[in-house]
Amino acid sequence: MASILDSADTTGRDSPTIVHGTCHHDCPDSCGWIATVENGVAVKLRGDPDHPFSKGELCPKVNHFIDRTYSDSRVTTPLRRIGPKGSGEFEQISWATALAEIASQLQSVIETHRAEAVLPFSGAGNQSLLAMGFPYRLWNALGVTRLQGSLCGAVAGAGVAMTNGTKLALDPEELAHSKLIIIWGSNTRLTNRHLWPTIEAARTAGARIIVIDPIRTITADEADRFIQPLPGTDVALMLAMMHVIIRDGLQDHEWVEAHTLGFDELSAHVADWTPSRAATICGLAEDEIVALAREYATTRPAAIRTLIGAEHREHGGMFFRTLACLPALVGAWRDRGGGLARSVGSWTDLVINHDALTRPDLLGNREPRVLDEVRLADILTNSGLRPSVHALFIWGTNPMVSVPNTELLRKGFERTDLFTVVHEQFLTDTARYADIVLPATTQLESVDVTPAWGHLNLGWNEAAIAPVGESISNAEFHRRLARALGLIEPALFEDDLTVLTSSLPSIDIDQLRAEHRVRVPYPEDGRPFGDGVFPTASGRVEFVSEELRALGQPALPTYEAPTEYAPEQLKRFPFRLLTPKQHARFLNSSYSHLPKHQRAEHGSDEGGPYLEMVAADATALDLFEGAMVKVSNDRGEVTLRVRVTERLRRGVVAIPWGWWGDSHEGGVANSLTSDRLTDWGGGVAYSDTLVLVSPAL
Ligand code: SF4
Repeated sequence: MASILDSADTTGRDSPTIVHGTCHHDCPDSCGWIATVENGVAVKLRGDPDHPFSKGELCPKVNHFIDRTYSDSRVTTPLRRIGPKGSGEFEQISWATALAEIASQLQSVIETHRAEAVLPFSGAGNQSLLAMGFPYRLWNALGVTRLQGSLCGAVAGAGVAMTNGTKLALDPEELAHSKLIIIWGSNTRLTNRHLWPTIEAARTAGARIIVIDPIRTITADEADRFIQPLPGTDVALMLAMMHVIIRDGLQDHEWVEAHTLGFDELSAHVADWTPSRAATICGLAEDEIVALAREYATTRPAAIRTLIGAEHREHGGMFFRTLACLPALVGAWRDRGGGLARSVGSWTDLVINHDALTRPDLLGNREPRVLDEVRLADILTNSGLRPSVHALFIWGTNPMVSVPNTELLRKGFERTDLFTVVHEQFLTDTARYADIVLPATTQLESVDVTPAWGHLNLGWNEAAIAPVGESISNAEFHRRLARALGLIEPALFEDDLTVLTSSLPSIDIDQLRAEHRVRVPYPEDGRPFGDGVFPTASGRVEFVSEELRALGQPALPTYEAPTEYAPEQLKRFPFRLLTPKQHARFLNSSYSHLPKHQRAEHGSDEGGPYLEMVAADATALDLFEGAMVKVSNDRGEVTLRVRVTERLRRGVVAIPWGWWGDSHEGGVANSLTSDRLTDWGGGVAYSDTLVLVSPAL
């Protein structure tokens, strides 16, 4: 086995070395992998056949991870900007020079503007513990501005917790026991591909699969029943389902009586949510809604599977809060294979001591300023912010592609009084705006522990090869920066193994390392709420939530149209824009700059995203396949080619998300998207975006 802390042990050997690791990408599957290393070079990467979830398969992008690791376009030395911000013009510098300059700038910003003028911004580019968490020890020690909420994932949990009192939910592998699986707003076959065999096995054993999605995805293609509501109308559909279930007496009377709070209020509340009313809002047929409700209420065990996508709306919290009411109404939690399956990251969180990892105690009695992560564009351009952000540190994310309202964000990045450091593997759209770019290792080059949110296996990742060029891990960069700043707090310099050991107090690290993974605890009978007890204030599933009322939100599940869809806005911008993940060869914005992956996705060397619309809409605008169109709203404008599709509904268009801006002329999908905050949970309403589509002249 390769050494944990001395990757030189795995280099320079004559005979091939086999090294186990875990995929780090922002993907629920967290596949186990096996790297073959010859003479210090990774020559093969394949799925670990012993991994209980991924079972030996990776995916079309990570099958090429070695190419990506050794790509000519890797950043392998520190770089200093020599051209205008965004130009991509840099010169090589040494690590010593880079660290001295960064430390000097950081100290100057803190002395001049206070520590709150410094903003660390990280993402799930590598969702391992050290990569994501250890850097915050330094930022806690400095007392800089912190961010709350998340571009992805926070709202789904916050929504469910308002009904169930917890983010914990059903392990998706329990779908093997289901007889009805409703996949709601998730493209399982693409974005959670290793769960699909479980769903197929359930179908072979007699389960039916229903997919509800505003896009006819490749998962919808495989469904026994596909329901395609208009974007953002799902809560109306759920309320009508409740109406039918209660009207027809199909609720689980005994379970509702014993384990829920507020049934009578809910019953009165949904009385006028007739299928007819919801059908008009959702663009569905009445009998479609009635049949869905009846099938859900009369099939046992019945599971709903969802992940993150539906949270990206102004009322994203309400979507998940309302969805969580459905299993309670029909008593689905009674059954093995029944309930609501979402991210299982909350189960994994139970074994991670995040305080030991990030050390908030290093703040002492300081209380850092807290801002909303999803409002980065506003944060960097808001002249009223005191102090303004003058130093920005970015790792594990590419906000110029992933953050909404990109064109406003661009203005922030262009500020000459903003010192920006980006720790990255490639010269991303974001890195092009940095003053200093630092080379980052890939998962093949660094040790870590990688949690999963699609299954219950916590994976060890062994460093398979020495760092490429002068790359270092996120953790090591923050150790070096702490040293350059002259800090002496021992916690800032702890080695990887010590940090991992303290962060996983109930896990035997040696055993984890030797066995490559460990399954985190989960109820043995497969039923997370088999006893009907929920950690809410009432101990019950709360159809009525006083906690929500206290937040100024409706206490009962409530449908509201997005503010962005106001009639005057719909007149100006008549199309609802979706920006889905639909590329098999991209993972968020990773891989999308690599020509092989671009060609595979685009089908030509031309590259770049495209606008999908249905034939009827294209014809009405005198457009055709391949025509150039301008897609615009008050936030931005993007010029693209049309692709005619039958996967959308009239009035709905889509731009696949993930392409970098330098892959084509013009902005990115997020140049158009809304950066409005969600109702609660600190997420973002990307999918509430309206646009105008017109022929490009
Ligand atoms: S990106 Fe997802 S599916 Fe692909 S190898 Fe990584 S964890 Fe597995």
